[in-house]
Amino acid sequence: MYKIQSAKLLKEIMTNYFLGFKDTTKKIAWCTSVGPAELLRSFGFEVHFPENHGALLGATRTAGDFIPESTKLGYNNDICSYLTADIGSYLKKETPLQQHYGLNGPPKPDLIVYNTNQCREVQDWMNYFAKDMNCPIVGITPPRHLDEVTEAHINDVSAQFKAMIPACEKASGEKFDIDRFRETLKLSKDATALWKQVLWTATNSPSPISFFDATIHMGPIVVLRGTQIAKDYYTALLKELQENVSKKIGFIEEERCRIYWDGMPIWGKLRPMSELFLENKAAVVASTYCNSWVFDAFDEKKPFESSAKAYTEIFINRSEDAKEKILAKLVKDFRIDGMIFHDAKTCANNSNSRFGMPQRISEKLGIPTLVIEGDLCDLRFYSEGQSTTKIETFLEQIESAKAVTR
Ligand code: SF4
Repeated sequence: MYKIQSAKLLKEIMTNYFLGFKDTTKKIAWCTSVGPAELLRSFGFEVHFPENHGALLGATRTAGDFIPESTKLGYNNDICSYLTADIGSYLKKETPLQQHYGLNGPPKPDLIVYNTNQCREVQDWMNYFAKDMNCPIVGITPPRHLDEVTEAHINDVSAQFKAMIPACEKASGEKFDIDRFRETLKLSKDATALWKQVLWTATNSPSPISFFDATIHMGPIVVLRGTQIAKDYYTALLKELQENVSKKIGFIEEERCRIYWDGMPIWGKLRPMSELFLENKAAVVASTYCNSWVFDAFDEKKPFESSAKAYTEIFINRSEDAKEKILAKLVKDFRIDGMIFHDAKTCANNSNSRFGMPQRISEKLGIPTLVIEGDLCDLRFYSEGQSTTKIETFLEQIESAKAVTR
């Protein structure tokens, strides 16, 4: 059975990352997943990402134990299940971090930072914790849903980055150092370029990495970007995958079709989902979810402006037109035969099937699309039997269509 050997190193790195929170002398910042991690690391903060904790609650299928705690506080079941699971875990004082890493819970923050480039939910979520823990909070609220990111947008967001410096200085006890920020950004730029190369190895057939593998191997680019550790990890992973490409070793022996996955993973169902596609000889090779941590614009010579551009031009923050152009390029680069849109009940922001995009894509690009209903963490919104039938039928249709044109 195909295995990515770097997974061992990945496990070690992620374990060390979490165990690092046992050192209570370090200053801690909480940051949203596509928030300004590089700026925070340049002040010496260790960075905790509540969304990463939310994904852990989803993947360990414990989210369902915690969501009702948030519901009691008045949080609706239809809003972000990362938020409801994470706040519920905090209220219940239980987390898989206890069992896996011997931590009492996520580390106590000295500063909380958010960027609403992905959604407004993160602002509410982080404000809940800031109020409950009496912790300072700062945020970036960029313009949303853009066709193009203009100079005016960059100037606006860049000014918001700079405005966070006094709060970072106060909470960290360190003076802002532009050279340290440049160095951190350069490390992040290098790691993100390597991560992109890792993902793009899947343009090959056979592909050495699937979407499901990528959701695991993206750990360091989310929580450790701006560190040498992340850069070294993706150097090693890329080397392994490139060797597999040259030896024609991939995660699937017979690739009958190539699939793009749109939207969030269903964290509690990654393994059965991956097996379902493998059994049907379908290679899920691309997604914009994993690409969300590819930041082409980073440039240490213009650290504020390039950070503003990189974090504002992310896929989730773009207009439907801009998204469709990005998808058209991915379909071409990865030679996609069909697209599956995950309509995640509690994340409208990362569900692109609600305003006619699958139909438009199908018409414009001439490839079939399928929408499946589910959720990132709340498995009450996912019907495995129904989705399996839909996916199998969809894959059969692709296979028959391909057979006709052969
Ligand atoms: S993008 Fe979706 S899943 Fe992520 S924090 Fe926002 S609402 Fe939650």
